[in-house]
Amino acid sequence: MMINSKVILSFDFEIGWGDVTNERWKKRERNGVYKKLRKVLPEILSTMDEYEFPATWATVGAMFDHPKNRDFSHLPTKAKDLVNSVLKAAKPDSFDGRDLFESVIGSKTSHLIASHSYSHVPFTYEGVNNRVIFEDMTRFNSVAKDFNIFANRFVFPENREAHYEALAQTGYTKARVAADNTFRNRYLYRASTMLLAPPSGREEDGPNGITRQFGSMLFNDAGKSHRVPLLNRRVSLGLKQLDRRGGTLHIWAHPFNFAESNALKASFIDTIKTIAQKRDQGSLTVELM
Ligand SMILES: [Zn+2]
Repeated sequence: MMINSKVILSFDFEIGWGDVTNERWKKRERNGVYKKLRKVLPEILSTMDEYEFPATWATVGAMFDHPKNRDFSHLPTKAKDLVNSVLKAAKPDSFDGRDLFESVIGSKTSHLIASHSYSHVPFTYEGVNNRVIFEDMTRFNSVAKDFNIFANRFVFPENREAHYEALAQTGYTKARVAADNTFRNRYLYRASTMLLAPPSGREEDGPNGITRQFGSMLFNDAGKSHRVPLLNRRVSLGLKQLDRRGGTLHIWAHPFNFAESNALKASFIDTIKTIAQKRDQGSLTVELM
């Protein structure tokens, strides 16, 4: 009897945009993280090509828009002023990721481009409403269209869910949301992320006809490479759980994290190989979001 087991891999593809409303991009820029990503991403992509491993890349629109076309006039004043001041202070490569984006869409593997919004301003940020998100998503769609990409999958900036109406109005049908958390106590939850198999990346009907797809686990060591063995253990618990009772293991990651930790990058490459091997043996499928 064949158990239905699948693995989904999705990336939040964002470089500095992921931190546009906090200060962490500054430290990453100082540490050369975005620069180093230009060396690390090709390594990841060539592994994915070698093992025919497709992923979903939830990309920030402003990251692959031409810098001279960037437009934040739709944002509420506080967010708009913040984004403009960040862009003034940052090095161009920390926010202009056209080269990175082109290397993904130019890959031999057919990856799926999803949206991670245009500006990455969280949907719950001060002054953000359905109208703002409609404009933000419309801008994303128009930049994507220049590359003949029509995205209908979405990942919320900072996983903050809101404004489903605007997502539906701009053509989106599925959104990835944070991992299912059945623990009320946050210490128990943190312990669970180290000790237990990750929750299944199940799907459920969400607001406005949009499917909510739960992530299972974030592939990151939080800058502490001694945590990598725990992360590896969690992936293998997740894979064992798939063998036992099927379901979905949905792993998500931020490519720039692989430029922050060589141990994390090596472990990620190993994970891709392990999953591809299980796929080739017929015990699971690798699917897009
Ligand atoms: Zn993000």
